[in-house]
Amino acid sequence: MDCLFCKIAAGEIPSNKLFEDDRILAFYDIDPQAPLHFLVVPKRHIGSAAELTAQDGDLLAHIFATIAKLCAEQGVEKGYRVVTNVGEDGGQSVAHLHFHVLAKRSLAWPPG
Ligand code: AMP
Ligand code: ZN
Repeated sequence: MDCLFCKIAAGEIPSNKLFEDDRILAFYDIDPQAPLHFLVVPKRHIGSAAELTAQDGDLLAHIFATIAKLCAEQGVEKGYRVVTNVGEDGGQSVAHLHFHVLAKRSLAWPPG
């Protein structure tokens, strides 16, 4: 499948990695929107959060626990935001599930 994040997960396209195991990969966003901005993706292709099922519960728990661990390792002390965009109106530009993690500045709400 011609999917950018599948290729990054497979190591076919380079990325600036923070963490990798058999199920997930975390890498820095190429166009950071905060002093700390990384993405976490499952290695298995999932198109977006709209395709998740109850079978993915362990994977999601693993992703969120890893995000918390990575933020602690990166010295995040005042909180962070996890975002996953779905579809055109959601602002999704890469059709492979990814969680943005934004930190180290105060983030506005609501988003634009
Ligand atoms: P979204 O718009 O929510 O689908 O997020 C896609 C994100 O992927 C954007 O924040 C892009 O900056 C980021 N991105 C696109 N290509 C790359 C790449 N090769 N390496 C790292 N991040 C990327
Ligand atoms: Zn993919």
